[in-house]
Amino acid sequence: MQLLEKQVALVTGGSRGIGEAVALKLAEHGADIAFTYVSDNSAAKAKELEERLQAYGVKARGWKSNAGAYTECEQLVKEVLEAFGKIDILVNNAGISRDNLLLRLSEDQWDDVMQINLKSVYNLTKQVIRPMMKARSGSIINMSSIIGIKGNAGQSSYAASKAGIIGFTKSVAQELGSRNIRCNAVAPGFVETDMTQYLKEGDAAKSYIEKIPLGRFGKGEDIADAVLFLASPLSSYITGQVLSVCGGLSM
Ligand code: NAP
Repeated sequence: MQLLEKQVALVTGGSRGIGEAVALKLAEHGADIAFTYVSDNSAAKAKELEERLQAYGVKARGWKSNAGAYTECEQLVKEVLEAFGKIDILVNNAGISRDNLLLRLSEDQWDDVMQINLKSVYNLTKQVIRPMMKARSGSIINMSSIIGIKGNAGQSSYAASKAGIIGFTKSVAQELGSRNIRCNAVAPGFVETDMTQYLKEGDAAKSYIEKIPLGRFGKGEDIADAVLFLASPLSSYITGQVLSVCGGLSM
């Protein structure tokens, strides 16, 4: 039997990077997958991903939906429930960075990061908990970052949003534990995706890698393995935790 047989997962920001790796990993282990993306540029990629997911013998469908917009999330969850019947696993993965030193960080940059990284987690979690409470089961996994734990110069908005996710995660875990709904966060280190492309350029790459005890950047699949664990019954007695997946960088 597969770990996630008969389970339905909703993954935000599934069209690229970590979210794509998570969607593929959960499908490989038997879950039906609803995933989202936001930009028109990703529509073709999302169609292609639907087919790659379906090749695992599961149902899969992508939605264009802005995770930062409350009413879009409301509509999305309604449509996913109509199409898939239930949501057992929510992976709040969609995120952006607008890095800048605080002196130069504009109000719009701050607001965008808060809206898409932090408010999105509220938007989606708020929508899924009612059906999860009825089912008396659910696993919510929020994508934080080691930057939310350690902070980083030039990333005050990103760090604040990712630290906010940790506080939210622990609170939701306490509110909903009695209903058998678990809520955990994953804190990736530096993972090779479009978001971190700039880290691989020039001398910067070497100096980042030198700080990572395991001596390499992470891959989407490293993070997806941790999400699979937190989504599955293998972690049925784990809630309110932050799992760092960072090659030892957060020590
Ligand atoms: P990425 O490659 O830039 O991909 C971002 C994904 O999020 C894309 O699918 C994008 O959709 C989607 N997205 C962006 N804004 C959205 C919105 N408003 N509504 C819905 N979807 C939206 O990023 P990544 O590196 O995979 O990061 C994924 C998550 O992991 C983020 O929360 C990030 O903060 C976190 N994280 C990443 C790292 C890292 O090193 N990469 C480290 C720690 C944490 P489109 O394709 O339509 O743009």
